[in-house]
Amino acid sequence: MTITVPLPQLSLPHVDTAPPGALIAGLPRARRVYVNRSLRMENVEWVGFDMDYTLAIYRQAEIDRLSIEATVKKLVDRGYPPQLAEATYDTRFPIRGLLIDKRYGHIVKMDRYKFVGRAYHGLRELTRDERHELYHARKVRVAPPRYHYIDTLYALPEAALYAGAVDLLERYGHNVDYHELFDDIRQCIDEAHRDGSIVDVIANDLPRFVERDPGLAPTLHKLRSAGKKLFILTNSRWAYTERMMTYLLGGQLPEYGSWRNYFDLVSVAATKPAFFTEKRPFMERVFEHGAETVRPAYTLERGRVYEGGNLRDFERMINAQADRILYVGDHIYGDILRSKKDSAWRTAMIVQEMESEFDAMGRTRDDVTELDGRARQRDRLEDEIRYQQVLFRAAVKRSGEDDAEAVTLRRTIDRLKGTLRELDASTRAMHKATDAAFHPYWGSLFKQGLELSSFGDQVEEYACLYTSRVSNLANYPASHFYRSPRDLMPHEM
Ligand SMILES: [Mg+2]
Repeated sequence: MTITVPLPQLSLPHVDTAPPGALIAGLPRARRVYVNRSLRMENVEWVGFDMDYTLAIYRQAEIDRLSIEATVKKLVDRGYPPQLAEATYDTRFPIRGLLIDKRYGHIVKMDRYKFVGRAYHGLRELTRDERHELYHARKVRVAPPRYHYIDTLYALPEAALYAGAVDLLERYGHNVDYHELFDDIRQCIDEAHRDGSIVDVIANDLPRFVERDPGLAPTLHKLRSAGKKLFILTNSRWAYTERMMTYLLGGQLPEYGSWRNYFDLVSVAATKPAFFTEKRPFMERVFEHGAETVRPAYTLERGRVYEGGNLRDFERMINAQADRILYVGDHIYGDILRSKKDSAWRTAMIVQEMESEFDAMGRTRDDVTELDGRARQRDRLEDEIRYQQVLFRAAVKRSGEDDAEAVTLRRTIDRLKGTLRELDASTRAMHKATDAAFHPYWGSLFKQGLELSSFGDQVEEYACLYTSRVSNLANYPASHFYRSPRDLMPHEM
């Protein structure tokens, strides 16, 4: 006997109420969907969703505090100084895309060319010279065991804790083994996830940790009413998934008796990214002889719950062409990169930080325009200085340094150089202030200096679409053609 009643496909009225093109153009930026690779929704048959940080929007600061608390407790149990438990950790410190350098206890941010543009030791920013010596004078080869990439929102507390712990332990004069400290933090946080110290607290107090988006249910309904089939593919376990999804969708639309009605397939404990690369079998959860158990699954059916599984079996059992599956997730590696590299699935990435990035863009728009103007002004000044220097050298050659013309030219050059210095100093301060409007430690998530950050680069490379939350999909017709802006190379501009 299965634990679930098969759920019929509901037939619902078509509710494609999306605005026409003109209204899409009027959408606030944070509500739009952005396109790296064109995608015709018309051709998409299946839309799959990751759950955590995709369907479920977590309140990051709350989750970070909880994870740090649970992890510190375990570190102290392992023999770390109890001062760790008294410290306050700055949960604003980390962003996605940072790299832990376990050799030196540094945390760095790179641009798309692996150039380290910023670095911290604990909460102290490294100077330009320190960065240069470690990361610029030689090529950074980003690989374990020395480097660890922080690529999920899930992993942010590790970075906050690492920076805080390095700071505190050194302040108390402890000799820190940076490598071991990070590995211990990783192990303790994994343990805290495994033994329930984190998920149980979340599951028992969902409103504190999870934002319920009232737009989610209508978005899923809109996709379904346009004939798309929906599935959930999550690494979370069944009990947690069931509780979370009931919180997110239960009672949201009268047509749907349960959250299960929204989805044609539900698969939990998927162990992505292994799901995309390995050949683990699908198991069905069943209720037998008074207990829950699993048995091998040879078909995937609506209304049942599956575990494990793998990409090839999935595609075969749902009988869908890979490029007709759109997968929506938040994890650049587990959800987006792997499904892109190992399959032809189309991808949409949820980047919830975009909402605060747009805020910062709005607040700094005038300053950015001003900075662009200053960059052009600087170019003109440098040209002028070079020109005056040519004249000066010619005058000196003609009649010596004390010649009146040479003296005037030298004064002009000195004055221009003074102006350039002043411009540079005030521009640096302005750059710093605009960066800080994005993030007090790291600046923009997507940019590093004038380049894309390594995170921004990955989003561009692997996500066909990206947006801040799932419900933004409802701002477009269910058969929308998401068209990428044409790529231009420098010689075409
Ligand atoms: Mg996720």
